[in-house]
Amino acid sequence: MQKNKIIMASKFNSEELMAMESRYGAHNYHPLPVVLAKGSGAKVWDVEGKEYYDFLSAYSAVNQGHCHPKIVEAMCEQAHRLTLSSRAFYNDCLGPWEKYVTEYFGYDKVLPMNSGAEADETALKLARRWGTVCKGIPNDEVQIVCCEGNFHGRTITIITMSNDPDSYANYGPLTPGFIRIPYNDADALEKVLAERGDKIAGFLVEPIQGEAGVYVPDDGYLKKCYDICHKYNVLFMADEVQCGIARTGKMLACDHEGVRPDILILGKALGGGVVPVSAALADDHIMMNIKPGEHGSTFGGNPIAAKVSMAALQVIKDENLVEKAAYLGNIFRTEIGKISSPMIEKVRGKGLLNAVIIRPKDGKEAWDVCLKMKENGVLAKPTHQHIIRFAPPLVITEDELRDAIDRIKKSIKSFE
Ligand SMILES: *Cc1c(COP(=O)(O)O)cnc(C)c1O
Repeated sequence: MQKNKIIMASKFNSEELMAMESRYGAHNYHPLPVVLAKGSGAKVWDVEGKEYYDFLSAYSAVNQGHCHPKIVEAMCEQAHRLTLSSRAFYNDCLGPWEKYVTEYFGYDKVLPMNSGAEADETALKLARRWGTVCKGIPNDEVQIVCCEGNFHGRTITIITMSNDPDSYANYGPLTPGFIRIPYNDADALEKVLAERGDKIAGFLVEPIQGEAGVYVPDDGYLKKCYDICHKYNVLFMADEVQCGIARTGKMLACDHEGVRPDILILGKALGGGVVPVSAALADDHIMMNIKPGEHGSTFGGNPIAAKVSMAALQVIKDENLVEKAAYLGNIFRTEIGKISSPMIEKVRGKGLLNAVIIRPKDGKEAWDVCLKMKENGVLAKPTHQHIIRFAPPLVITEDELRDAIDRIKKSIKSFE
């Protein structure tokens, strides 16, 4: 009943809404032509009432499922009490959240921000500060090592690290102080740290590269990198914005190798897909180098974010989403692997963060496959030209997953 009410309340149809975005909004995205009006669990509905499985989960921000009742309730309850205090004053939600989050992930301290990019920027600042104050690198000479194929967000400093021209081209001048090395190549890290380690404060890495197309590094890569970093007194910083918080079948993707990052960067699902919440976590010897007034955010650590984030993390535990992601991910890769189609080149991933590499056929590419899946009730989007990421909310049931896999299969088969 409620579903129909919400959908009927929309004054415009999909065509009109897409035209409106095109006419009045900046063209910095190229969405799949579907206009969503409602979501619940692993499903979403468009303006006309058609139902879909969401296999993007807002880039893994909706791990807990759309409009999770406990998370929405936390938000609504807090919205009636206090929404924003700023950090000029204390509020009665932030301390309890900070205690909860640091105990949850096992760090001395947490620094709250809003977007993933801001959390990455925070990590970079922490590393630079630690590099100058603790390691004694001259202020203007501090270097950070990053990886080819990285995606850490969209600020000027962060796009400096990118080797994707779509991200960085014609946004110059960019920020100095970065060295880029190949991903999944621990020898390259050893080499650069051996040569220039005295000037390097940190190594920033995605344990699995999400935006690049779900690149899973070789087993042992993260552990090797961690050990190399420690050998040269360099901070190991993990960007778990997309792959963290149960997505890959462990709480953190680093947990697959028993690695505890010196700086942990979280975002996306930290806010349960309800409000933007991000954070950098570290121990005191790193975090306490930033003093009052030296970093901040007006909305970072606001009462709604704190309450929502605590509810979002509690849902991960209460609903065993780590174990679910591991179990359902195996089913996904096995079943997709059984589809015999010349268009499927490869399936890869961990937990419920997976990608299918599409081999174009008769001019039909990943985008066409996504349009066909949309017709058949599954929403996913290409990342780069030939890769489709499949990352449903972790609350998806096994029956729903198997139903979605049938629809994916039907879509791919339709090109034969
Ligand atoms: C999405 C993402 C970011 C950026 O997060 P925003 O909230 O869009 O700023 C950073 N790192 C990784 C790995 C991401 O996937």
